[in-house]
Amino acid sequence: MNSTSQTISQATVKTTCPYCGVGCGVLAEQNGQGHWSVRGDPEHPANFGRLCSKGAALAETIDLPHRLTEPQVRQTDGQLAAVSWDLALNTIAAGFRAAIDEFGPESVGIYVSGQILTEDYYVANKLMKGFIGAANIDTNSRLCMSSAVAAYNRAFGSDTVPVSYEDLENADLVVLVGSNTAYAHPVIFQRLVAAKERRPEMKFVVIDPRRTATCDIADLHLPLAPGADALLFNGLLVALADADKINQAFLADSVDGFEETLATARTDAPDIDTLAQRCGLKKSDLEQFFNWFIATERTVSLWSQGMNQSATGTDKGNALINCHLATGRIGKPAMGPFSITGQPNAMGGREVGGLANQLAAHQGFTPEAIDRVSRFWGSDRVAQKPGLKAVDLFAAAGSGKIKALWIIATNPVFSLPDSHAVRAALATCPLVVLSECVDNTDTAAFADVLLPATTWGERNGTVTNSERRITRQLPFIRPPAQARHDWWVVCEVAKRLSFDDGFNFPNTAAIFREYAAMTGFENNGSRDLDLSAFATFSDAEYDALPPTRWPQPANQQAKEPFADGRFFTPNRRARMIAVRAQGPTSALTPTYPLRLNNGRLRDQWHGMSRTGAVPKLLNHASEPTVSVHPQDAARFRLRGHQIARIGNANGTALARVHLDDNQRPGSLFMPMHWSQAFSQHGLVNALTDAQTDPVSGQPEFKTQAVWAEPYPAKWYGFALISQRLTVPSLAQFSGGYAVLIPGDGVVRIELAGIDAPEDWLGWAKRQLGTLDARNTVPQGFEQGETAHWIEFADPANGRFRIAQIHAGQLDWVLHITADSRAVDTQWLAGLFRETELSTLQLADVMAGKPAGAQTDVGPIICACFSIGRNTLLDAMAEHPIPDVKTLGACTQAGTNCGSCIPELKALLAHSALVATP
Ligand code: SF4
Repeated sequence: MNSTSQTISQATVKTTCPYCGVGCGVLAEQNGQGHWSVRGDPEHPANFGRLCSKGAALAETIDLPHRLTEPQVRQTDGQLAAVSWDLALNTIAAGFRAAIDEFGPESVGIYVSGQILTEDYYVANKLMKGFIGAANIDTNSRLCMSSAVAAYNRAFGSDTVPVSYEDLENADLVVLVGSNTAYAHPVIFQRLVAAKERRPEMKFVVIDPRRTATCDIADLHLPLAPGADALLFNGLLVALADADKINQAFLADSVDGFEETLATARTDAPDIDTLAQRCGLKKSDLEQFFNWFIATERTVSLWSQGMNQSATGTDKGNALINCHLATGRIGKPAMGPFSITGQPNAMGGREVGGLANQLAAHQGFTPEAIDRVSRFWGSDRVAQKPGLKAVDLFAAAGSGKIKALWIIATNPVFSLPDSHAVRAALATCPLVVLSECVDNTDTAAFADVLLPATTWGERNGTVTNSERRITRQLPFIRPPAQARHDWWVVCEVAKRLSFDDGFNFPNTAAIFREYAAMTGFENNGSRDLDLSAFATFSDAEYDALPPTRWPQPANQQAKEPFADGRFFTPNRRARMIAVRAQGPTSALTPTYPLRLNNGRLRDQWHGMSRTGAVPKLLNHASEPTVSVHPQDAARFRLRGHQIARIGNANGTALARVHLDDNQRPGSLFMPMHWSQAFSQHGLVNALTDAQTDPVSGQPEFKTQAVWAEPYPAKWYGFALISQRLTVPSLAQFSGGYAVLIPGDGVVRIELAGIDAPEDWLGWAKRQLGTLDARNTVPQGFEQGETAHWIEFADPANGRFRIAQIHAGQLDWVLHITADSRAVDTQWLAGLFRETELSTLQLADVMAGKPAGAQTDVGPIICACFSIGRNTLLDAMAEHPIPDVKTLGACTQAGTNCGSCIPELKALLAHSALVATP
């Protein structure tokens, strides 16, 4: 798919996907008509040409809706008004200066994001820690992997990821912990699937309370009790010791803390029966896992948010790393503990110092590091101690300690725990600045200064992926109107704060050179991060930088970290950390009897501001759902496709019930993606506590105790609204369930409510708009032409159908029923394209179904080709289909990005079961 945005280059441009931490290389290509398309870069070592469904749809996001195009400042009447860049920048500088002068540098803060580029990160960190003089800059990466950072630092004395994607493929055993890789890092999953096809003897263990799509490659799935990760790995350490698999030579040469760590682990795991019972696992499964780990030297353990997003996430990470240190399975090919990052540049942020507890370039707040950084930056104001981590930063804004807060490229109202408290904090904070590319995020409503930022396709810089590989992100279209790069805005504010000398960068190449020089400054092998080979790059060399893993020291051969058994602690030995396993912070009680987990979907990214603009990416899952095991559904009277209300003391959420026996009984799962821009009450973080890990500051997102009950809806329905009309705000439906689902030319709003109006036609006119609300008169129509309405009413059965028609075209359609059913609206959406509806078509609209033989394709499984479940089942009924490849040959499903292959396999397996007498 493609776009016609204003072009700055005719050539193919090599860039990087802006979504997950896999960091896939992307080729953006323009055809003769000026349309842009994307495909995977076959030469990029992260993906070798592959893209998942999100990456493959990137060209469809070039013309983003709701784009911010000019700076805005809130006026005395409370409204935002467009202003010049000069005024906006002066407003920010004046607000920061006033707070610093009156309350000190600790009274201001910057909150950045794993979405921004390393060069943006570098100057933001330099401004806050180097020149304002406090360390109150933190990043939303705090929410996804700061526990892994803390665990690495405790074990290695450095934040070094010691594994590559190639190691993963070459391992004989891959242990995936708390990671639905198939959805969250799809191209890594595809690489693992391909590796298993090449070497069928390769083994996979998936450790996750849910049976996720990643279990498609599992030789063993351990449905671990929520939060029991440290317990499991303490048990594994004991099993390794009892099997005499401890690498004594490696311990003697390279590791401290083994005896104490093992003794502590034995306290947690006295015997295998107790361990199995506490982990909620079958003893035989546990033994199988331990035996494979004991027997397999080439083992990679990959972990993600399922371990990190915990109030004991750091301990969990160390419990896992302990097993690799004890066996010496680190620093060698095809083995090691691998924390895979969520965001495209979480790693770049970690590297420059975007976390509040790191100073800069992998240096902490030791007196030596502060002195070194002060001399390098030529500043005597460098922060002397760590700053406020994400949750604490916003709490400080709420308590009045933070007077000015600048948020860059992130949506904390959506992504931080306890969203009610975050809203209150932003409403309290005297100055909230937001740099964003779109104007409809949940956080935008709280901005006093709203700055239009450039975004993917326009920005120029570098990102680092999960395997420490730096890749260029290059621009190929011009930013719209007055959108500006984040690095430029930060430097302009710095100059207005009188820090001119440190921020006179002409371009990102100059920033990158300074950053690379900093990593090598007085390093001499004492720090892991060293990019000094790039410090003398010309602009042309920077532009041509191929994807490269660090370290890259100047005048030296790059060495793989830890290959020599030396680490970055003061005595150069790794540390095993004794940890006691602890359960989730949120206690189950009779009032809150269920655990709520949350995570990613296959086709969406974060708050959906980009992926939500692509209709086909909403086909796979278009509404917030809550997955419920059938046993729990029966216990709490929840029925499939009805709406559930989930709640606790923090708040409530509404979500469509999805019955799913892949859920662990007692646990619910909701996708994390629904912000208020898309769903009135689908926000998971309305429920999560702001409980954090005491070491890493990462919140516990995944084990919230909640109750669940049926939402007592009296009516259900949907509205389809032509995009010729002003789409109503979801806030108009705040009393009930309302979800916005953008489509091609038509927006769908799924609705349900408790109070039914007396007069549905009047309600519909008020809620959905009349001709007066039209923002443009379609071509060929007369100004002032009136609309008319057709209506079907069956009050006895609670059925109402109303349509507004203008000049023969549908403006909107509302269908209301008394019960909740999945309805195919594709045919109805198609009628919005008709320029003169026939009498027969109008009759179909009122009948609620097409008279002709339209096919219901069912829920979409293959997003690339919009192929639904029913189409696939029909193909299976018609042909003997033994495998996914044959299914792809018959239907095209799964033949592009491959993200849907686990679901295709599940469908084939299910249909084989059904067919077996
Ligand atoms: Fe982008 Fe998908 Fe690759 Fe992640 S796996 S970087 S989302 S294409």
